[in-house]
Amino acid sequence: MKIIVLGVGSSGGTPQIACACETCTSTDPRNTRTRSSSLIVLEGGEHILIDTGPDLRHQALRENICRVDAVLYTHAHADHLNGIDDLRAFCVNGKKQIPIYANASTLNNITSRFGYAFQPPREHWDLPTLTAHEAAAPFELFGHRVIPLPLQHGRASILGWRIGNFAYLTDISAIPDESMDLLGGLDVLLLDCLRIRPHNTHINLEQSLAYAQRIQANRTFLIHMTHELEYHAMAARLPEGIYVGYDGLRLELA
Ligand SMILES: [Zn+2]
Ligand SMILES: [Zn+2]
Ligand SMILES: [Zn+2]
Repeated sequence: MKIIVLGVGSSGGTPQIACACETCTSTDPRNTRTRSSSLIVLEGGEHILIDTGPDLRHQALRENICRVDAVLYTHAHADHLNGIDDLRAFCVNGKKQIPIYANASTLNNITSRFGYAFQPPREHWDLPTLTAHEAAAPFELFGHRVIPLPLQHGRASILGWRIGNFAYLTDISAIPDESMDLLGGLDVLLLDCLRIRPHNTHINLEQSLAYAQRIQANRTFLIHMTHELEYHAMAARLPEGIYVGYDGLRLELA
């Protein structure tokens, strides 16, 4: 199983529009962050996408992604959802409907805002053709057990995801104990780390490091970062086993 990190940016991306700070003007590609999303590539070749942010088209072209077989949604905020229309290309390519998985409130939000994407395929495949599935409990997908992990994101209850020894936890203000109990024995963890200053709907650097130390994955990569977090300044201060994520990072799972 392989992970392609498509984006590690926060809602505005980095560079942020109209900002001239050190990170936003950096020429290091690791300081260019599209909106957060990752792709899981299974041994059988199936591609499971986590979220469809507004940069999906650009990410798919950059990483030469030719298929998407399922989408796991964390929640329905614009920076995780609004690229949904670009799933159309993968429906057309594969001549298939793509199943999406989310919790009930996220699913309601998506199907009411993008109802046109949940119709049966039409002759010319001119719309995305998705099917909606509620993930209220672990389920099987392409022979793998997929575990939805309830998380708090401010007042909203959203999902993180675990498949095998990989977990993806973004947009967290707190991880409930029941979900912490499901995070043992990870090889790779992608973990929210918005910025240095505290925030009411995200964990900041200090809180991310505290969670990472408790979860004890072999390798933890920080994601969903704002321009406040410059790549090299961050990398220099992180403890062993915790790394700054970046767009295009590829990870082989042990
Ligand atoms: Zn977000
Ligand atoms: Zn900036
Ligand atoms: Zn959010």
